[in-house]
Amino acid sequence: MAFHLLQRDRSGAAQLAQTLGGALAVVRHCDKCNTFSEQQVCELCRSARRDQTLLCVVETPADLLMMEQAQCYRGQYFVLMGRLSPLDGIGPREIHLDRLVRRATDGVVKEVILATNFTVEGEATAHYVSDVLRAKSLRVSRIARGLPVGGELEHVDSGTLAQAVIERREV
Ligand SMILES: [Zn+2]
Repeated sequence: MAFHLLQRDRSGAAQLAQTLGGALAVVRHCDKCNTFSEQQVCELCRSARRDQTLLCVVETPADLLMMEQAQCYRGQYFVLMGRLSPLDGIGPREIHLDRLVRRATDGVVKEVILATNFTVEGEATAHYVSDVLRAKSLRVSRIARGLPVGGELEHVDSGTLAQAVIERREV
């Protein structure tokens, strides 16, 4: 991208540099949910319309945005800013586990929903976090894997289909 901008779009590059520089100066992490915010506590965390008893754990601010766009969830969030990956030196400290535990044990949160990715690291992270939170007597759930909306069985990979069968629910 840098090469492309330098060669073809130098004014665009200057604009991007200025925007990034501005963001670096003002964007920080929300004290409550850890996502990017220009304020100490972000707008979502301050909203009185959100369910304070639900806390959804995601890996990145982009995942939080996806959840919001799906309009299926009205609780609060905690953003790990990563996932456990011991080989890359990313442990419980790097995903701010101590802050998550403090946030989840504020006495108001009743259920923690783990919405980390269904990758090896995401699954390991969900497993580890759920062990820690369950030890604090919190109710912990994991989002379900399933078939894509509009998907046809014959075009879905066997792993996804198998998980959908395992995680079936009564109708
Ligand atoms: Zn926040």
